[in-house]
Order: sequence, then C-alpha cells, then structure tokens
Amino acid sequence: TAPPPVIHYNLNNVTISANPIENNENVLILTPMARFYQEYWDNLLKLTYPHQLITLGFILPKNKEGNEATSLLQAQISKTQKTAAEKDRFKSIIILRQDFDPPLASQDESERHKMQNQKPRRAAMSKARNSLLFTTLGPSVSWVLWLDADIVETPPDLIQDLAMHDKPIVVPNCFQKYYDADKRAMDMRPYDFNNWKDSPTAQELASKMGKDDILLEGYSDMATFRALMAYMYDERADKHMEVELDGIGGAAALVKADVHRDGAMFPPFAFYHLIETEGFAKMARRLGWISTGLPNYLVYHYNE
Ligand code: GDP
Ligand code: MN
Repeated sequence: TAPPPVIHYNLNNVTISANPIENNENVLILTPMARFYQEYWDNLLKLTYPHQLITLGFILPKNKEGNEATSLLQAQISKTQKTAAEKDRFKSIIILRQDFDPPLASQDESERHKMQNQKPRRAAMSKARNSLLFTTLGPSVSWVLWLDADIVETPPDLIQDLAMHDKPIVVPNCFQKYYDADKRAMDMRPYDFNNWKDSPTAQELASKMGKDDILLEGYSDMATFRALMAYMYDERADKHMEVELDGIGGAAALVKADVHRDGAMFPPFAFYHLIETEGFAKMARRLGWISTGLPNYLVYHYNE
C-alpha cells in the first residue's frame, strides 16, 4: 500500500490581515467552560463572521458540573451542526475534557474572587487554556479568539471589528449588566479588571516580592494604581479608540495566531509576578507583540 501523503503547509500563505473575510482567514474560537450558558451559545450563533471559517474549541473540567455543561453543550452543537442551515454551521468543533483536577472547582463569583483563592485558581485556568491552545492550534489558523463561556453578549461583528485593528492582541472592554434596585432599572458596571496599563507602584510592589508571588488586580489590600481599562469607558467617545495595555484578561481577546506560534502561552506560575492572561500579555511583549485595548468597545459578562 502507498505511504500516507505528506501534507505541506506554507505558513507564509496563511494571511493574518485587517480584512479577514476577503482573505478567507480561519478563526479558532477557544473557550474554557465550567458552566454552560445558553446566552453564550446564542450569541456565538449570531456572530456574522462566516461560520465555515470558524473552528470552536472547548475545554471542560471533569467533575459533576463539567459533565453537566458538556451534555448541554453537546446538545446545542448537535442541533446547530445537524439541523441548522448550512451557512450557520461551524467548520469544526473540538471538545476536550481536562485530565487534571481543577482545584477549588464549583466556586461562585464571590468565592473565586477571594484573594487567597486566586493563585491556585488562575494556575489551573492557565493549564486549561494551554491544553486547549496546544491541542487545537493547527497550521491553517490565522486568528485565535479567546472567549469565556460566561460572555453572554457581544456585537455580532465582533471578529471583524477586532481584526480591523490589525493588532497582535486586541481586547474589548468587559462589562456586566445588572438590575439597579435604587434606580429600578437595568444598568451596567465594569467587570474585568485584568486589562491594565502598568504603574510605578505595581513595579515597586513586584520588586519587593518573593519569586513565586503574584500581583493581583482589583483588591483594595494590594493597591497597584495601574490604569484600568474598565474605568476608561466613555460612551460618547470613539468606539474604536485604542490604548496600549500591559496586562489583559481572557474574557474576550483576539490574538494573531503567530503570537501563540512564537510561544506566547499562559504561565501557570509567577512570570514577572504575573499569572495566566496577564502573564500571557507580558510573555507576548517579551516576544515583541504589544497588547491593545478598546475601552469603548463593550462585551458583557453574565451576572450570577
Ligand atoms: P472570572 O470571570 O474571572 O471570575 O473567571 P471564571 O470563573 O468565569 O473563569 C473564566 C472562564 O473559564 C469561564 O469561561 C469559565 O467557565 C471557565 N472555567 C472556570 N474554571 C474552570 C476550570 O476549572 N476548568 C475549565 N476548563 N474552565 C474553567
Ligand atoms: Mn467569568
């Protein structure tokens, strides 16, 4: 019998451009998922980027909650891939189950945001993101869109809107809609504090830390005085205004695949006293890739 054919990919022919649709660029959407939210899936279906160019990758923990989320996700995938119109179906879908135990699993919002829970939790998240990335990033991928499972609303043109900036890493601002009992109306508040510009105070704090210690953002007992993108939102200003960032969150982030191919990943340990997505931004920067934030371009996080 004939030997299996060798497949050649010339990475130079895979464009990563500001006009990804015209250039038929493949997008890999990666989502670590502890819980399944129908709103996340519905929002995904509404993305106007050609679904035939989109591969979805998921990683879910191997516990009771993860099993539940997996079956809900599977059901929606079957529905979309088998019964939806051809144009609505995605190119391919990969589901991974985590082969390591997530520590401190099944935490609610207040529990997982406690400072002492942050390092092990974010180390586990880093490993989940790395496993997902390294098993799914193929040679034909141009862009990786990191999108958390609890991002329940984005503009439908999210991918094109972000790609248009033609930046190695571009991050929208992540807010949360909630019911304001005093105003008796819906309102919104900043949610993701991991998108920031560094400060001399944070640098000073880091310089005095033990080698395995990490800086965390959004905790009053560790005031860093970093400039947080969450507080830069201005509804009257240009939606596409750019700011340079030193740390990013993973709620939604569009990354040129070459940034990951160069080796930028999510450190599950203290890297320059940063971990996970903030460590990733630092590692990318050491590789020469700058992160850009869009303070006035909003995506919304689920409200538990
Ligand atoms: P927060 O919004 O910063 O509090 O972080 P989340 O707890 O929402 O976690 C970020 C993303 O990772 C979400 O999409 C979660 O569903 C997912 N996630 C959380 N914990 C785990 C885990 O242990 N394993 C995996 N695979 N995903 C997780
Ligand atoms: Mn979240």
